[in-house]
Amino acid sequence: MKPKLLYFIFLTFFGFQNFSDFMKIHKEAIVIDLHNDTVQRMLNKEDISVRTKTGHIDIPRLREGGIDAAVFSVWIPPGNKSKPYFAQAKKQIDLLLNFAKKHSQQIVTAYNSEDILRISKAGKIALMLSMEGAHPVGDDLKHLDYFYERGVRSIMLTWNNSTNWATSASDETQSPAKLKHKGLTGLGKKFVKRMDELGIIIDVSHAGETTFWDVIKTSTNPIIASHSAVASICPNHRNLSDDQIKAIAASGGIIGVNFAPWFLDSEFVEKEKVIKEQNKARIDSVRSVWKGDALSREAAIARLMQKEYDKILPTLNDLVNHIEYVIKLAGVDYVGLGSDFDGISVAPKGVDDVTLYPNITKELIKRGYSKKDLGKILGGNFLRVLSEVEKRKTPN
Ligand SMILES: [Zn+2]
Repeated sequence: MKPKLLYFIFLTFFGFQNFSDFMKIHKEAIVIDLHNDTVQRMLNKEDISVRTKTGHIDIPRLREGGIDAAVFSVWIPPGNKSKPYFAQAKKQIDLLLNFAKKHSQQIVTAYNSEDILRISKAGKIALMLSMEGAHPVGDDLKHLDYFYERGVRSIMLTWNNSTNWATSASDETQSPAKLKHKGLTGLGKKFVKRMDELGIIIDVSHAGETTFWDVIKTSTNPIIASHSAVASICPNHRNLSDDQIKAIAASGGIIGVNFAPWFLDSEFVEKEKVIKEQNKARIDSVRSVWKGDALSREAAIARLMQKEYDKILPTLNDLVNHIEYVIKLAGVDYVGLGSDFDGISVAPKGVDDVTLYPNITKELIKRGYSKKDLGKILGGNFLRVLSEVEKRKTPN
């Protein structure tokens, strides 16, 4: 019995030692998540100031995950025509800003990189606004100024649907014949230049390849892909080719690696199709209850099918493979994390929700990354881009 007991003590001691080390490094780093869709849950009246049983993010879980700043994205589902895009975006911004005001002991709106550092130092979480799809901007350049004033610091030119002046990855690849133009129009180029002037980061996640290369030619700022993964590992129209990754790095920008299983694992979509077919009747019963928004419906289906998903989901290891691919291709200065939490119905095993962010740090340490590298990957790189774009702002 004795040697066994000694072995147990040895394991426990070194296990804890290891655990406290990676938690220490994780807590000391500025950790920033570049993209979430949590505002959609807030619109459904979910109170994320307390721990919630659904979704991936709420304040207690952000704290537990050691997140210093989270970028909350304003997004209007294309089917929702109840009000103009602009009015809906305004409503979402009001909701987020009021939420931060109401819970200012825990979460504070950040407008620049200094804010993030200050808020984190005070032991609070920084909330930064972004926009997913420039549809609320419409064709009016002045709207960019308005959204900047309200605190929006990065804008994705498209979502899966194109805007009048920029085509999306979905439209460019799935329905090219329907496109009236491809890439950035003349007006699109004006928008990109105005975003550079205002200090709004251009986010190319969801943008089509033609739009992407037009942005590279037009913008003089570092650009980001807030939530995209690597096409060489998982070919998907939403993922980035090696040339795109290198071009983002050359601009001084970063790729926030997306956690969505279908962007990480090329076999996931097929496997998911099989389990969905096998469980069609169960899924249909949930579908008929959740007639409303697609995000809530998919989340409910994922909860119902948790056992089946557990067998096919990619893992933390797969996620870190994408992070490491970007590092090996472009350098450790050009990568970050963009979970897409609350916009994805299922997440990789080991990063099931935001509380498990420290597992990423643990895995990167295991793969030999230094504390300095971790500081960059976890949030330092995004801070650099943010402050660079701020510095290059041109008055008026
Ligand atoms: Zn997205």
